[in-house]
Amino acid sequence: MTFRLRFWGTRGSIPTPGPHTVRYGGNTPCLEVRTETGWLVILDAGTGIRELGRALMKRASDGPVSGDPIAADIFLTHAHWDHIQGIPFFAPIFQSGNQFTIWGSKALETSVDRVIREQMAPVVFPVSFEELDARIDFREIAEERCAGNGYEVTAFAVQHPGGALGYRFTGKSSGRSFVYISDNELSPHEMYRVGPDWRERLVEFVRGASVLIHDATYTPAEYEQHRGWGHSTHEDAVALALDAGVQQLVLFHHRPERSDDELDQCLAECAALVRARGASLAIVAAAEGMDLSI
Ligand SMILES: [Zn+2]
Ligand SMILES: [Zn+2]
Repeated sequence: MTFRLRFWGTRGSIPTPGPHTVRYGGNTPCLEVRTETGWLVILDAGTGIRELGRALMKRASDGPVSGDPIAADIFLTHAHWDHIQGIPFFAPIFQSGNQFTIWGSKALETSVDRVIREQMAPVVFPVSFEELDARIDFREIAEERCAGNGYEVTAFAVQHPGGALGYRFTGKSSGRSFVYISDNELSPHEMYRVGPDWRERLVEFVRGASVLIHDATYTPAEYEQHRGWGHSTHEDAVALALDAGVQQLVLFHHRPERSDDELDQCLAECAALVRARGASLAIVAAAEGMDLSI
């Protein structure tokens, strides 16, 4: 196995607890990834990271050496609220000995470092970033390839207001990959300065991945009201997955208003699209607590 993934937050924009989101979940984006060396990578730090933090603390205290330090690389796609709002509630940052590197896009208007610190300014949060006991480093990443513990990561600039990155993770020994693109508008829009070959380059970026996790916020009818808001339809996500020849598509960043039953309906429509193209593609909707092995 190259990667083990667990989804801790699947919802876009704002947490949506309640009876209609019990199955697919109401926490904003966060994934736990274990590489082939057992190293921990965390993708985005929405409210889902709070429960992940609790699980990590429990595992550390139950482990062979009680109180084992926790270390991870945290990759942020961008700094919109739903991708950072869980950080102040991620318990491991309050414990000394723990170490985290937060990776964010070099292309944001302001540095990720500054956004995370300001999210904990006294006017909006009671504990300041400087009071945290864990060691936290910041790294900026552009469209480039970086090597990590048991993985290699490549970043790609996607279409999203304010800028965002998609990440492709590849296992060092197996060469198997998955791609994580949480927020991305696949349809063209004049506000994005990406060049005419952007979609072609995106298809190559995703090409042959075992799993593509992609923004599927809107239905086509909803999308007409939200052009330029930075998100895709589930149909667009299917088209990208088919063009890039991935094995499995995971619909992600569910619209806050989307009920569990409506998501089932979206899945059925996606399956019909794949059949209509005479193709084969496994499709699931990301659900809190879901595990994937790659
Ligand atoms: Zn988002
Ligand atoms: Zn966003």
